[in-house]
Amino acid sequence: MTSSVPLTSPPFAWPHGSLDKGKVVQCALSRVCGGCGTSLGRPIAFLGTTEEVDRNAFHAPPLHEACARALRETGIAGASVVLTAGFEYVRPTADALDRRPTFVPNSIIGPA
Ligand SMILES: [Zn+2]
Repeated sequence: MTSSVPLTSPPFAWPHGSLDKGKVVQCALSRVCGGCGTSLGRPIAFLGTTEEVDRNAFHAPPLHEACARALRETGIAGASVVLTAGFEYVRPTADALDRRPTFVPNSIIGPA
C-alpha cells in the first residue's frame, strides 16, 4: 500500500489478525488509535458491520479517520465507518451473552 496513513502492519489492535482484547482495552482507556497506536484526535472513527452501525455498538476500537478508511480496505472489521466526536466504552457485564468490550459513539457526525 502506498498511502501516508500511519497504520501499522499488522494494525495495532489486530496483532495476530484478530482483535486483541488487551489492545482494545488499551485503546479505550488511553484513547489511542486501534490502527496505528498513536493518540486519537477528533473526529474519532469507528469501523464496523452494518449491523454494528444499526445498533450503534462497535467492537473494533476507536480509530483515526484515515486509519479507519485504510482498515476498511482490508475488510478486517466491516465495511462501514462512522465519525463521532466522542464515545462511551462499555465493559461487558458478567451475564452478558456477548463478552466483548463495546464502544458506543455518542456524538455521531456522520458516515465517512
Ligand atoms: Zn491511527
